[in-house]
Amino acid sequence: MSFLRMDELDLTGKRVMIREDFNVPLDAGRVTSDTRLRAAVPTIRLALDRGAAVILLSHLGRPVEGHYSDEFSLAPVAEHLSGLLEQPVRLQKNWLDGIDIQPGDVVLCENVRFNPGEKSNDDALARSMASLCDIFVMDAFGTAHRAQASTEAVIRFAPVACAGPLLSRELYELESALTEPERPMLAIVGGSKVSTKLTVLESLMSRVDELIVGGGIANTFIAASGFDVGKSLYEPDLIHKAQRLIRMAHRKGGEIPIPKDVVVATSFTKDAEAYPRLVNQVQPDEMILDIGPLTAVDYASMIQGAGTVIWNGPVGVFEFSNFAAGTRAIADAIEVSSAFSIAGGGDTLAAIEQFGVADGISYISTGGGAFLEYVEGKTLPAVAALESRFDG
Ligand code: ADP
Ligand code: MG
Repeated sequence: MSFLRMDELDLTGKRVMIREDFNVPLDAGRVTSDTRLRAAVPTIRLALDRGAAVILLSHLGRPVEGHYSDEFSLAPVAEHLSGLLEQPVRLQKNWLDGIDIQPGDVVLCENVRFNPGEKSNDDALARSMASLCDIFVMDAFGTAHRAQASTEAVIRFAPVACAGPLLSRELYELESALTEPERPMLAIVGGSKVSTKLTVLESLMSRVDELIVGGGIANTFIAASGFDVGKSLYEPDLIHKAQRLIRMAHRKGGEIPIPKDVVVATSFTKDAEAYPRLVNQVQPDEMILDIGPLTAVDYASMIQGAGTVIWNGPVGVFEFSNFAAGTRAIADAIEVSSAFSIAGGGDTLAAIEQFGVADGISYISTGGGAFLEYVEGKTLPAVAALESRFDG
């Protein structure tokens, strides 16, 4: 991967426009988790220290294009970020009309998704964004898989376009984990549906030595192995795909293990009573909501034996305390293992936070969709645009 990096450039007196990922959770006009904002602070400080005027771009939620609404305003982000940076962060609406800014200042442009043409990656919109800066910095890995005006087209039109430190580090870590992995390489793919992760499962199958499936995905594999899954969440029409993946694993001399035991309930509720079951004893009115303790021990030992672990997706309904033990066991095993470990995914990050294991994971990707697409081996549009600017 070859592209310009922000830290290679002279930023003195330059208008530096940075695409951030400030899509943070809000409650009553306040930021409730500021991980993404804290992650961006070093990039912003670096640009300010090097004498830049800093213009920040981000999306927030999914507003209707062309319509301003307070609900999707970045105002709470401006306020919170100003506290973290210990300097004013001016929020500007209608910023495409022009931005008045001096070196040392920070301006946060109102939600890029209010602009018509953002989603469709409109060239005219991207040209007007690009005309507001001397240097465009892409630093939002989590949006790099989307070709939108503020993530892709703007890179093509900016006077200079480069990758910011967060994006560079993320790509470096993912590349080194996936291209020169310490073997054996183990992937754990959990979550709710096979359908959303089928391509990831297929591409991982060709790269990894061992694959563990969990969650609703595992239910489809359990059904594919001939066991009754009762009322569990699973996808009957994907059973043949699951069987194909199982055969692929066998051909490679490995296997996709089916949980020995599971934890079931008769309702999908927070306080549902949990019952342990061997995998062949699930009743018609029961649903599988977690892996069982025997399986957790098996998976933990596979994790201990691995050289590289890639983790995406909880192996159970970890949001309900009675069904969190399996995901906790996976998280704990990754935490203590000496393998190079990499994790990504919205709910996976929530689980990592819930179990407090972040320090024991070698690299936590900030991207959900972008992480999965990278793992699938796809070229991320924003990265491709940066690369083509570098070649040209
Ligand atoms: P990520 O965001 O990390 O990629 P997903 O969005 O694919 O993960 O899946 C996370 C969701 O899967 C969680 O909300 C979790 O409750 C759900 N889940 C896990 N196991 C099961 C299961 N056995 N039955 C139903 N839902 C499950
Ligand atoms: Mg999710």
